[in-house]
This record gives sequence, C-alpha cells and structure tokens, in this order.
Amino acid sequence: MIKIKQLSKTFGMKHNPTKVLKDVTVDFPEKGLVVILGHSGSGKTTLLNIMGGLERPTQGEIIIDEKILKNNSDKDFDFLRNQEIGYVFQNYNLIPALTVYENVALSLRIKGYTDENEIEKRVFYTLKAVNMFYFRGRLVTQLSGGQQQRVAIARALVKNPKFILADEPTGNLDSKNTFEIMNIIKKIAEEKLVILVSHEKDLVSHYADRIIEIKDGIITNDYVNQKSAQYVVDDNTIYIKDLEE
Ligand code: ATP
Repeated sequence: MIKIKQLSKTFGMKHNPTKVLKDVTVDFPEKGLVVILGHSGSGKTTLLNIMGGLERPTQGEIIIDEKILKNNSDKDFDFLRNQEIGYVFQNYNLIPALTVYENVALSLRIKGYTDENEIEKRVFYTLKAVNMFYFRGRLVTQLSGGQQQRVAIARALVKNPKFILADEPTGNLDSKNTFEIMNIIKKIAEEKLVILVSHEKDLVSHYADRIIEIKDGIITNDYVNQKSAQYVVDDNTIYIKDLEE
C-alpha cells in the first residue's frame, strides 16, 4: 500500500546544509498502528510531512499502491498531495470561527462535495464514531483539548482516507484525554493504517502494533510491539487481557 524508499531530506542546501533524514526505507502494512518513535529533532515530523505531501524529500521515493512517486517530479508530488490522506496535528488546527459540524464538513466541501444530505450523513456518522455528535453545533473554541482532538480526528476520517498521519496527537492532552484519544486511534487502526509520531516511549508501547525508532534521521530499530498484544480495545476502554485465559 505505502512504502518509502531511501528517503533523504536536507534543509538549508546552500548555507550550512543539515541532513535530517538519511536513506529511510519502510514498508508499511495495510492496517494497524505504526509508531515512529524518536527524540525531539530526530526527523519524525519531517518524515510525516513528506509522506503527507506537505514537504518534498531531497531524494528517494514514496510508493503508493504500486505507483512510484519521485521527488523531482512536480506531477508525482501533486499526485501525492491529492491522495486521500488524513492528517491529525498536535495543536488540532481547527478553524475557530466554525462549529464542530462545519469543521468536519469543510473537509468534504474542499473535496468537492456539494450535496448537503450526503455531507450531513457522512459528518453525522463520523461525529458519532468519535463520540462528538452531541457537540456538533458548538464552536470548536468552546471545547476542551480532548474534544477538539476528537473533532480533528473526525475531520481526517470523514474523507475515508487511505491512511492517517498523526503528529504527536496527544502532546497537549492530560492523561485521561490521552487515553481516550489513543483508544479512538487504536480503534481506527483496526481497519486502517495509522502512522503516528511520538517521543513518548511509555505511552506508545501500550498501543503501537509496530514501533520504528528513529535517531538523527536514521532508523535504528523496527519491531513488532509484543506488549500491545496484551491490550484489547473495548468500546471505551483498553484493558489488560489476562494472558492466562
Ligand atoms: P519534534 O519532536 O521536536 O517535533 P522531530 O523529531 O519531529 O522533532 P523535525 O521537526 O522533523 O524533528 O526536525 C528535524 C530537524 O530538522 C531539526 O533539527 C529541525 O531543526 C530541522 N528542521 C525542520 N524543519 C526545518 C526547516 N524548514 N528548515 C530548516 N531546518 C528544519
């Protein structure tokens, strides 16, 4: 589905070039929660931005559904930007002047949806999935951080994207909201690929299906996270499965 092959990124080409990604190669699975784990400045956001078409790599390829996208082709880059990719940011990036409903609907309007019945059907369905239907008429500025992040997840999901990219989605949240958001993400990852970047090893080791560690722009470790198998997503909670069962 999606692969990245020998991706490199250098900032400040002329003066003082800094190579922040160095030959990064990953084959992503069809679904599941893949966490890219690394300290601040290790290149996580840059990698996610390249995969989301927000930034161009200096070298390397992104392969989506067998189509090879090269960094030096404007056409390939446009193709990537036009893919259905859901983005979730640490600071939510919602539009403050709009309601919950309109923030999510906007994602469809931008895509060219004009049928209001169809828009309503999709938005309602998605808001229910993230447990925010009740708040649909509120301005997003009247919501807590955790609620805003749920709206941001709905905005990403409503387009039915190929995959979701999440950049430190719980970075601004307390532990209760972190738990709720990670539960929602885990639920989504049962059906879709979610690539999440984080620097919090303790947090992600509970949820990630696979962990890719990155340091100074190089992948230093890539493994299936056995620990997450001990956790089971219930409707609203993740509980530790009794391994003796
Ligand atoms: P954090 O967790 O702090 O967000 P990160 O692992 O996501 O860190 P990146 O944001 O990808 O790291 O940054 C990697 C390196 O690239 C950093 O040293 C950063 O200063 C540098 N960098 C990022 N964007 C640019 C840019 N536009 N121009 C120059 N340098 C940049």
